Amino acid sequence: MTWEERWHPLREEWVIVAAHRQDRPWSGNTIAKDETNLSDYAADCYLCPGNRRVSGAINPEYTNIFIFDNDHPCVSFEAPSELPPAPAVYKNRPANGVARVVCYSPRHNLTLAELEPHDIVELLEVWQSQYRELAAVPDIAHVLIFENKGVAVGVSNPHPHCQIYATNFVFSTIEKETQVSERYLRETGRVLFQDILDAERNDGRRIITESQSAIAFIPYFARYAYEVFVAPKETHASLADLSAAELCDLANVLKPVLVKFDNLWCMPFPYVMALHQAPADGRDYSGFHFHIEFHPPLRRPNLLKYLAGPEIGGGSFLSDTSPEEKAEELRALPPVHYKIAWGTNKVPPDSD
Ligand SMILES: [Zn+2]
Ligand SMILES: [Zn+2]
Repeated sequence: MTWEERWHPLREEWVIVAAHRQDRPWSGNTIAKDETNLSDYAADCYLCPGNRRVSGAINPEYTNIFIFDNDHPCVSFEAPSELPPAPAVYKNRPANGVARVVCYSPRHNLTLAELEPHDIVELLEVWQSQYRELAAVPDIAHVLIFENKGVAVGVSNPHPHCQIYATNFVFSTIEKETQVSERYLRETGRVLFQDILDAERNDGRRIITESQSAIAFIPYFARYAYEVFVAPKETHASLADLSAAELCDLANVLKPVLVKFDNLWCMPFPYVMALHQAPADGRDYSGFHFHIEFHPPLRRPNLLKYLAGPEIGGGSFLSDTSPEEKAEELRALPPVHYKIAWGTNKVPPDSD
């Protein structure tokens, strides 16, 4: 039984782990399985090749990866830079930058998990070049690359894509991780994330897979049941500093993690994936270790982890599962995607 609080060293907060609660009865809402039987192309999809987007722009007949500026940007250099002063105790500041969409494939019904390893390498290269380009823009302080996947995280369009927010500010979690990592380096002379990797390797129970230069694990302090960190073993402040061999290794670790996610319940596995990279303001962040975090909202095939009293009301995460057990579960899953194993994307071989 795991029933304790665990310290999250990157966020500097406690996580309540109460794994004995995972089997408690549930009579609330459940989430329907995501649709798996889709076709290659959808006429009403704003991301499919040749289709018209809300802005009126028509997507090219792209055959590989396609990038465009978001038609409804959350940040833009068109946002006002002269603001009315905030009253009294309040503060405000301009929010601007660049928001882009990256389609992984022209195929409407693929997921990142189903891309070939060399296509994932190519995607990592695109992220790397996007990062370099956007980080070099004056006024850009940070580049957040993330993917929201699945209805469970509010995405109704299954077309495989991610977003890039290059902003004049640094997102709060990154700011916190940056401060914590830099202070740790100053005080101990060591990189915090390296000490996390050491702890994970010494224990071993939460490691999902690893290659020569990359590793995937559910951290000791995971807040979500299937929260996985994927990282290069060497410290780099951002994706921009990874070598070609490291990108390749990273793809070779990402792929089995993504396949295992989909294989868990034989459905496209919903998650929020975020690349955590140091600020891109030109300063030295040698204590910051680039990593990818997966935050999947489901605890079971149809059971959502709701953020409620402890999280929203009290500000502390309550996890109902043991990271050790969940890592074991992921490790035991086959590395071949269920659609390939079934030879069809419609029904499992044993269903009537
Ligand atoms: Zn599409
Ligand atoms: Zn992080």
